[in-house]
Amino acid sequence: MNDLVDFSVVGNVGVITINNPPVNALAQAVRQGIQDGVNQGVADAAVEALVIVGGGRTFIAGADISEFGKPLAAPDLNSVLTSIEDSSKPVVAALHGTALGGGLEVALACHYRCAVAQGAVGLPEVKLGLLPGAGGTQRLPRLVGPEAAADMIIGGNPVPAPKAAELGIVDEIVEGDLTAAAAAYAARLVAEKAPLRRIRDMDEKVASARGDEALFEGLRKKFSRQARGQPAPYACLESVRNAVELPFDEGMKKDREIFTGLMASPESAALRYAFFVEREANKIPDVPKGTPVREIKSAAIIGAGTMGGGIAMNFANAGIPVTLLEVTQDALDRGIGVISRNYASTVKRGRLSEAKMNERLALIQGVLSYDDIADADVVIEAAFEEMPIKKEIFAKLDAVCKPSAILASNTSTLDIDEMAAVTKRPGSVIGMHFFSPANVMRLLEVVRGDKTDKDVIATVMGLGKKIGKVSVLVGVCDGFVGNRMLHGYLREANFLLEEGALPAQIDRVIYDFGLPMGPFAMGDLAGLDIGWRIRKAKAASRPSNQRYSPLGDKLCELGRFGQKTGSGWYRYEEGNRAPIEDPEVEKIIVETSAELGMERREISDEEILARCIYPLINEGARILEEGMALRASDIDTIWINGYGFPSYRGGPMFYADQVGTKAVYDAIVKFADEQGPQFWEPAPLLAKLAAEGKGFLGR
Ligand code: NAD
Repeated sequence: MNDLVDFSVVGNVGVITINNPPVNALAQAVRQGIQDGVNQGVADAAVEALVIVGGGRTFIAGADISEFGKPLAAPDLNSVLTSIEDSSKPVVAALHGTALGGGLEVALACHYRCAVAQGAVGLPEVKLGLLPGAGGTQRLPRLVGPEAAADMIIGGNPVPAPKAAELGIVDEIVEGDLTAAAAAYAARLVAEKAPLRRIRDMDEKVASARGDEALFEGLRKKFSRQARGQPAPYACLESVRNAVELPFDEGMKKDREIFTGLMASPESAALRYAFFVEREANKIPDVPKGTPVREIKSAAIIGAGTMGGGIAMNFANAGIPVTLLEVTQDALDRGIGVISRNYASTVKRGRLSEAKMNERLALIQGVLSYDDIADADVVIEAAFEEMPIKKEIFAKLDAVCKPSAILASNTSTLDIDEMAAVTKRPGSVIGMHFFSPANVMRLLEVVRGDKTDKDVIATVMGLGKKIGKVSVLVGVCDGFVGNRMLHGYLREANFLLEEGALPAQIDRVIYDFGLPMGPFAMGDLAGLDIGWRIRKAKAASRPSNQRYSPLGDKLCELGRFGQKTGSGWYRYEEGNRAPIEDPEVEKIIVETSAELGMERREISDEEILARCIYPLINEGARILEEGMALRASDIDTIWINGYGFPSYRGGPMFYADQVGTKAVYDAIVKFADEQGPQFWEPAPLLAKLAAEGKGFLGR
């Protein structure tokens, strides 16, 4: 038909093949080609049915997002889908890989769908703050009923083909060559005189839900946590409801209005931004694409504790053999025991097969001697956070590891350059800062030392991707990027308690802003004793005139370490992680305010939000000035993937631009007046941008 769409005839079946690698996105020429293909098939007397199939490794995986925000060139997808649905000859979608978004919408306009068992279908538009705008919201409920449709449209997650077959989305699971199997299936439909099944004309599945208030109220509740602060999930629900209550064309008309509104929403802008900049983080100006990389076929981890175990799982999950080194057999057994239990619970929850678990466990080997890791391509040190221990380990690694090995540290606070300095190969030393739980959290801060070689950076960035991480390059500084910014956030949260707030109020404000939990619930989850120990170690170096909140220390002195001890900033009931407000804690806070000579005051939610979030922005500005992050969007990627910053707010720097750098700057100056300049000195970059009326992005 054109460069991207091919038409051929197999027996009595016309086959429309889309060849727009890598994901057969619905670019203009693809839309045009499909429409022309359908017209040609309908016009050709020798063709009795049509198949639409994706060339390469997938069906259509969605819209061409580079067309977002631009006026769409004809034909628009909906008119293509109408041609398919109105075809006088049956059209079959042949699915493999992922049929996502516009891809699934194409399939839903077809009269029948077949798929290979490994395929998956989904409508992920909600994750970009949108709704599936080409009839997905109107057709899917008619096919599978409003509840299953809402799960897919509001949840946004893909559904494997076998499950899709159970739901009725896929009519036939096929094996062998997909095009041949789909053509055979289409020929069979012709032979059986199967009717042209137009989903838009189906009514049975939606009729029973018509006027069912309770059903939709239930769905609203079901998704309320995920939907917090965002219009798109509710818009999707409204749209599903329209499918139930309105004729197809009216529902489609409403969808266009709803879609336009969503496209203009700040939440969708933020989500689309977050999606794009996550990929941008891989671009490193002085480490261009094509920089040679070292081959990574095996890994070793030093220390099988909380982090080491989780890191090892990442490698095993990616099929890379990994050796865990510990100091004692006991520690090793404990570490491997935790990993086994972790996998076993995933199996129990039905998310991993027993066979896969065994395969992964077989890739993890525990050892006690450095000789056993001499051949590892990359070694990640995850032992105790003490420089002498790290130095000793790096010296040993330098002595035993092969010359091409990359030596990495997972340190959260220590200087990578100091570790590199004890080796004869500082160019091969780098930081790989994983986040806890390391097998779950997507963020990986890749810490570039003074002497780190470019091929090492390129290798580790690529390795991060291979083990399923979002890698962001950062420089060596205290706390790197993420934790360095976190300091100010936690500091202000504590100060606010002394001034008049309570943990539950602050946590509620932060939760409502969109983080998974506020600072105090997070502290209780992570354990308060770690920070306490670090603060004690650093106490001597703290300037005596610096404001310091003793509250966290007071809780720890009472043995309140958080969830693990049944109490921290909140109290917890046995076997329950739900925080319960504790009058004991309120008493300690109120007494502390008095001891500090502070008159407690009513603190507004607005002040809480600004006091907690603006320090992130101010520190982010400093990080940019110092070149510790390459770009403002990298900071946002870190905060979204490592700290649960709501992606629909784009990250702290994007949020700053939305609030306006001038407004953020003015607020910081005001806090400096009220609180003293100690912690509220505006970053020069923020001051400059505010004065110039510019933002952090595209500055
Ligand atoms: P952990 O105490 O749970 O585990 C450390 C493990 O290292 C222990 O099993 C210990 O036996 C072993 N170990 C100690 N010295 C060793 C040595 N010389 N050789 C081999 N093994 C040795 O600690 P963790 O929480 O897993 O932290 C490990 C590292 O990861 C630290 O540098 C920490 O700062 C960093 N980190 C921790 C987190 C976190 O949230 N826990 C997050 C990011 C980074």
